Amino acid sequence: MAEGAPGSILFERGTPDSPGEALAVYRRIVDSLRGPVASAPAGEGRVRWRVDPANLGLLSRAVGELRERGGGGTAKLEVQLLAEDLADDDTRIPNEGFMVPTLRRLREREGEGPELSLSLSVGRPYRLPPPALDLSTNDLCGLRCNMCGNRASRRDPMSMSPDDIRTLIREAAEWGIPRVSLTGAGEPLRDPGMQGYIALVNELGMLATITSNGFPISERVADELAARELSVSISIHGVTEATHDAIVGIPTAGEHAWRAIRRLVAARRRARATAGPGKLSINVSTVIQRANVHEIAALVRRARDLGADGVNIQPINLQHGHVRGEAIVRRDDVLLGASLLPSPEQRERLGRLFEELISLRRELGKFLHASEDRIELMRRYFVDSSREAMGLSCQVGERFLAVDHRGKIKPCYRLPWSVGDARISGIQRVWNSAAYGRIRRQIDSCPLTCLNNCFFRKGTS
Ligand code: SF4
Ligand code: SF4
Repeated sequence: MAEGAPGSILFERGTPDSPGEALAVYRRIVDSLRGPVASAPAGEGRVRWRVDPANLGLLSRAVGELRERGGGGTAKLEVQLLAEDLADDDTRIPNEGFMVPTLRRLREREGEGPELSLSLSVGRPYRLPPPALDLSTNDLCGLRCNMCGNRASRRDPMSMSPDDIRTLIREAAEWGIPRVSLTGAGEPLRDPGMQGYIALVNELGMLATITSNGFPISERVADELAARELSVSISIHGVTEATHDAIVGIPTAGEHAWRAIRRLVAARRRARATAGPGKLSINVSTVIQRANVHEIAALVRRARDLGADGVNIQPINLQHGHVRGEAIVRRDDVLLGASLLPSPEQRERLGRLFEELISLRRELGKFLHASEDRIELMRRYFVDSSREAMGLSCQVGERFLAVDHRGKIKPCYRLPWSVGDARISGIQRVWNSAAYGRIRRQIDSCPLTCLNNCFFRKGTS
């Protein structure tokens, strides 16, 4: 079959060494895609392109040219990557890291045409690397938050070694992941190696993020963090110290958390005075629950007044799940829910809270990270959090990848499943494997309704 004939895969046998030959093939294809697909004979208006480093630039150029000519809106490009399945959970894609930035860019501008699909030569869809790697380096936590069962007071001896963690950070960079979140079950700054990991993430050109309870943020630690390209979130659940202390079960926790915000803001000011615009982003993360419904709006204002950059809000989630065969089964913690979910008597106050949040969003813009749509979603969540009522499906299969402190690869933190040991397999080979594909199908029908900000819920059709 001739290169570019209907049904064939362009560059399937590789890109010709001669630039003239590759260009001639390219020109023929782009010209054939000029007309509207609707009126084209079957197979025309659609091109299957085997991408490799030698023709990546041509692919980018073809897409740009189609957009400029206006043919981009109707043409269809199936970009195929060569892949080999070495095992059920091990798929190798040669030169993937090299091609990811361009493929990501093309994907981001897909709305401008042409219609782009990404696939693997082994017959599955290709998934770009997730936007972030969540890497948990330890599980130590000194708090006793009322909604959490994750805390550990002694370091797990099975935790990954610093070398393992550095290896995974390097792999994330080579694979094309732009952000590493160094937070999992524990307090990241209780790991003595944390500043070094953040520095390494930055050296490799990635953004780092951490979520902290604020206790370990001394002035010295704040100064170190202010020198990084970093987004820090401090978990604070009450505008008053007393409310926060009651929720996290530790006296003075509120004082430490708000003090951490002040210290980070001051450290950033110092850093900017000496080294120019700093790259530290300072945020507050809070969970709406019975004890703080009346304080959330004031908490947003306090964070703003102190000089923070934003507030993440999410509703308390007391759902658990387990995997049974192909299905995911949901179980709500009814006992905890009885004391932590907003009470029926708070219904009116809760309604007012969401009105306040919408006004705040209009007034403060993205300082309040939740969009108006998301605020509406939270309002509905507290009425009926079933998947049917919420009309949601989950995107963690494409947008999230975590490695816990023992090295287990976790598609999400809410379900007790893992896809092997990242210390042995790494993360890249697993992500596009057949095994991970099956997990994505399970995620598509997951009955839990996690509204965590990072999980990017989308509506079901
Ligand atoms: S700080 Fe995080 S890990 Fe610690 S108890 Fe609270 S929610 Fe759990
Ligand atoms: S909805 Fe998504 S994040 Fe939540 S448990 Fe299911 S798969 Fe995990």
